[in-house]
Amino acid sequence: MNTYDLLVVGSANADLVVGVDRRPAAGETVLGSDLTTHPGGKGANQAVAAAKLGARTALLARVGDDGHGRLLRDSMEAAGVDTSGVLVGGAPTGVALITVDPSGDNSIVVSPGANGRLMPEDVRAAGELFAGARVVSMMLEIPLETVAEVVRNLADGARLVLNPSPPAPLPDEVLSACDPLIVNEHEAKVIAGTDLGDDPEDWARQLLALGPRSVVVTLGSEGALVADAAGSQRVAAVKVKAVDTTGAGDAFTAALAWRLGTGESLAEAAAYAAKVGAAAVTKEGAQASYPTAEEVSAL
Ligand code: ADP
Repeated sequence: MNTYDLLVVGSANADLVVGVDRRPAAGETVLGSDLTTHPGGKGANQAVAAAKLGARTALLARVGDDGHGRLLRDSMEAAGVDTSGVLVGGAPTGVALITVDPSGDNSIVVSPGANGRLMPEDVRAAGELFAGARVVSMMLEIPLETVAEVVRNLADGARLVLNPSPPAPLPDEVLSACDPLIVNEHEAKVIAGTDLGDDPEDWARQLLALGPRSVVVTLGSEGALVADAAGSQRVAAVKVKAVDTTGAGDAFTAALAWRLGTGESLAEAAAYAAKVGAAAVTKEGAQASYPTAEEVSAL
């Protein structure tokens, strides 16, 4: 049996990007730049981020039997991700259709495709991957019933890390397994189902009351906050010149999950993850911006 530092269960998308002078209104056609195609999706992003840092990483995901699926597998394998759990078929590979205007504002349509066909039985059939995983990391770009099945299939002592993005109300069974639940301000509000006020410490307290064993609130250029039953602690951001924040949250989540598996405390792991998130915002793109462990040490 292979053992993994991190098993990511989640989405893989091809991001199809076209630059436009003006994003089209209803019924309008506009001409754009040449198409660029990037590997993306929060699951694939997390897996690539962890593997680039040197973590033994596997991904359980579903792609289509098509060129986008092959592109995603190739990029993950080039980063060192074990793709034996990347299932093929059932629907076209998920895509994000993205138009970006000169001011950087974008319009995005996501077709979940094969991500929506990653089913609970796929989780049950991946027993070997779960048996070898100390930490399992997830997001919500796959069916919620599949997320719940992952909770039921964790190996004894395995730790679950969840970034509920895009956010949706979570069943208690999932919430109470999170250690930590990682949220930004918007995700925190949707999960809590109420306005949480202005103080991130309050958000963390209110979220902890919903059942997770620990909570991490990410605060962009302000760093993060970690909290558990023992109390809360701020994690300083690393000062960098931000160029593109795409995928920073995925890199942060993957790095934090991996470091928890090495035995670090939540605050230590979050401090490392803040460096990884900071490095990721200094370059264009998501996966292309993720640092190696050497680049993180140099920060
Ligand atoms: P999300 O994309 O999920 O909203 P954030 O934007 O909060 O996540 O980014 C995740 C983490 O990456 C932050 O907690 C922080 O540590 C780091 N980070 C993000 N943006 C910056 C920035 N401009 N400068 C330094 N660190 C950043």
